[in-house]
Amino acid sequence: MLFSRKLHGQLAGLETPFYYYNLSLLQETLDSAKKAADKRGFHVHYALKANFNDRLLKSIQASGFGADCVSGNEVQKAIDMGFDAGKITFAGVGKSDKEIILALNHHIFAFNVESIQEMEVINELAGQLGVKANVSLRINPNVDAHTHHYITTGLDENKFGVPTSELERAASVIRNAAHVELIGLHFHVGSQITDMNVFKSLCVKVNEWKSWFEERGTVIKVLNVGGGLGVDYHHPDEQPIPDFDTYFDIFDKFLERGPHQEVHFELGRALVAQCGSLVSKVLYTKSGVKKHFLVLDAGMTELMRPALYQAYHKMERVGETEEPIVNYDVVGPICESSDCFGKEVPLPESKRGDLIAIRTAGAYGEVMASRYNLREEIRYVYSDTI
Ligand SMILES: *Cc1c(COP(=O)(O)O)cnc(C)c1O
Repeated sequence: MLFSRKLHGQLAGLETPFYYYNLSLLQETLDSAKKAADKRGFHVHYALKANFNDRLLKSIQASGFGADCVSGNEVQKAIDMGFDAGKITFAGVGKSDKEIILALNHHIFAFNVESIQEMEVINELAGQLGVKANVSLRINPNVDAHTHHYITTGLDENKFGVPTSELERAASVIRNAAHVELIGLHFHVGSQITDMNVFKSLCVKVNEWKSWFEERGTVIKVLNVGGGLGVDYHHPDEQPIPDFDTYFDIFDKFLERGPHQEVHFELGRALVAQCGSLVSKVLYTKSGVKKHFLVLDAGMTELMRPALYQAYHKMERVGETEEPIVNYDVVGPICESSDCFGKEVPLPESKRGDLIAIRTAGAYGEVMASRYNLREEIRYVYSDTI
């Protein structure tokens, strides 16, 4: 159990709410992913958008990962944190001219280009700067990630990537773009994917489109299959480190690649989700006719996933308890009905002042914090500094 009596003692005096980051679990996760990737010659870029907390980034950078960015500021942050520009990818449907110029000036590994028009803009800006831009074409492969509709990205109806019906035209634009070098193909079909068959289907599509380009005489050096590997939100302590071997094995087995073809991944959630918890204090308890409520001092401003996509997070009382179990609706202080972490959540009977840990909050947690209701800046502590 992560939240032992000892840890309870250490956390009890701190001002809540705050993110608690277990840096040794993070390091174990990074080592496990790196080892599994290296064994197969795979390259992994960490998706900064999942969490750009400095200490986490430092560990990730020091462990040898590249960076996957979705804004100019993320590219700059990755550079500032010591990531090698030659290992930075830059995706996103709406890259501004300023962001593109920043990335061109840093000579990043590749732009993951999401539309034909963007390709033309990159070509023009690269020409003005007198540089050549490496690009991977993001193909929307029409693969259903079987995940929440807000985090599926690879269907024809999604805004991401170039639809396959446009590839003929994209290929011809690339051929005529003097300042752009097509180095690869990019795919990213969604997030929190736990069904490995989705990745199998992705491999089939990648093979298909890779051949399509090769038949037209285009050399494809990089196959970037994106990220999306899910974690176990229900059992954060049973398998805190995702099964990277099984995941990478799928690609090893089903991706057809030539001797000089590199396989790249962009993992976010799987690397950082389990190392973070949001620790919060019970402000009030109240009971209605049918319901028991726990009102926490953390809300959707600290962790938005439940309000944004009805995401489940396991909750537990910090420290050991023997109180009987009560089913609570656990809510935050924000003036929105969606500010609810869970309904009918079984927890030990709690009172004002008790600490509740919201688990598996290391990914898409702190980064989405907002000042709505003029809330305080988000706080965080690391396991090695308390
Ligand atoms: C968000 C994102 C990722 C990371 O997704 P995870 O589900 O956190 O692994 C990778 N690539 C792109 C292009 C993304 O937008």
